[in-house]
Amino acid sequence: MPDSPPSDLSRLCVHTVTTKKWSIEEAMDKYAAAGIAGITVWRDALDQRNISIIGEQLRSRNIKIVSLCRGGFFPADSDSALQAAIDDNRRAIEEAAELGAPSVVLVCGALPGQSLERSRQQIIAGISAVLPDAEAAGIQLSIEPLHPMYADDRSAINTVSQANAVCDQIDHPLLGIAVDVYHLWWDEQLEAQIRIAAQKKRLFAFHICDWMTPTTDLLNDRGLMGEGCIPIRQIRSWMEENHFTGFNEVEIFSNRWWQADPDDYLQQIKSAYLKHS
Ligand code: ZN
Repeated sequence: MPDSPPSDLSRLCVHTVTTKKWSIEEAMDKYAAAGIAGITVWRDALDQRNISIIGEQLRSRNIKIVSLCRGGFFPADSDSALQAAIDDNRRAIEEAAELGAPSVVLVCGALPGQSLERSRQQIIAGISAVLPDAEAAGIQLSIEPLHPMYADDRSAINTVSQANAVCDQIDHPLLGIAVDVYHLWWDEQLEAQIRIAAQKKRLFAFHICDWMTPTTDLLNDRGLMGEGCIPIRQIRSWMEENHFTGFNEVEIFSNRWWQADPDDYLQQIKSAYLKHS
């Protein structure tokens, strides 16, 4: 078990949404100057851009593109809405291929008033429909279970156990799981389910941030590592004991941090990463 923090920045990835004050062009220069090794790109950052050129610019700065965020949101109340979601996921896969991102993160979706079981069936149908596209493009799809407080409208997949069950049912080597400490830290089954996911070669991604007490906004009050109560290092140790060698991705939605000076914030991310991750 790593009882020590990361020794360097070689596995530090930052999500563009974390520093959303910056355009993708500004972010890539700032990340490169700060020695950030990886980036996960949110699709809104690519709006109105030539995506393959952005990919080239990131590679020329030696920034590894870790994932494209995000696809998913399959549950729908009509066939046409489900088809629209499938089409949007096909576009996400195309965008990942243009960018040179090896994977797309899936926030699977949920619909208030529709049973979670029905939503999960639609999630399975939606992922199955786009897997041939993922296969043609060589892109991995990572199911990200979300905290159950989002089970109403963001994800009917709320634990690694449920994500493993979906992966078992679809059974495709390009389908795996993104483990986000924010969503999963409370789950007594987390260690065991990470082990199962690893045995089935499904540990695709690892997202970090912290849980604030009190949490003042259900979506946009995440903490910087060390500000909250998540045992980040312990969860990272479970990932690494199970041979996860990918990036530690800092994904922080925070009204508070988004107001900070972004240059100062990026320095604080680096020091929090080295002290508290
Ligand atoms: Zn995440």
